[in-house]
Amino acid sequence: MERETHNFSILKTRILERSVSKVWESAKTEWDCIDVFIIRRGGDGYDGVVRSDESGERSVMLFNDGHRCEGYGICLCTHEPIVEHCVLLNKLNGSRTIVGNICVKNFLGIDMGRLFDGIKRIRRDLCKSPNSSLIEYAARQKIVNEWELGFMSSTQGKRATSLTFKQRTKRQQINEQILAYIDSIADAAKEKAAVDKAAA
Ligand SMILES: [Zn+2]
Repeated sequence: MERETHNFSILKTRILERSVSKVWESAKTEWDCIDVFIIRRGGDGYDGVVRSDESGERSVMLFNDGHRCEGYGICLCTHEPIVEHCVLLNKLNGSRTIVGNICVKNFLGIDMGRLFDGIKRIRRDLCKSPNSSLIEYAARQKIVNEWELGFMSSTQGKRATSLTFKQRTKRQQINEQILAYIDSIADAAKEKAAVDKAAA
């Protein structure tokens, strides 16, 4: 069920501004999630870390480089911090926008949860098998070639310990390729968000 909140009304207004239809129920069907990315957390060379604020009630995203803009760390609905981002494309007018995973699910009815789970799983451990959502995504975005796609499907769900050394190495290499692609989406979004912020 959709909950009418302040953030939702902002999101609704902004999505409608970017849609062909002026009616929410049909406007929201104009949008597809074409890409996703996750802000990297913790350690050197990473962008952000999520911490509780002083009251411990809400979490705040601290960015190493001070970058936090709409479309990178901030949802179209103004909610922040967001870590899991969805790049949305309007099928009718070609416009793009970035919305947090939660809003995409709650308000646009698109559930990318399994894809994010798959990404987080291989990011934690490169030897893990990508799940079916991640395999589909890698195929759609042509991150992997036909042979690699076949390899991923035939070894899906198999434990790293049951793979040969060669297979394990191949899986790691493919997983690195997928993560590099997703990081490139994050970098592009970060750059665009900074340009938009400067222009505002
Ligand atoms: Zn939002």
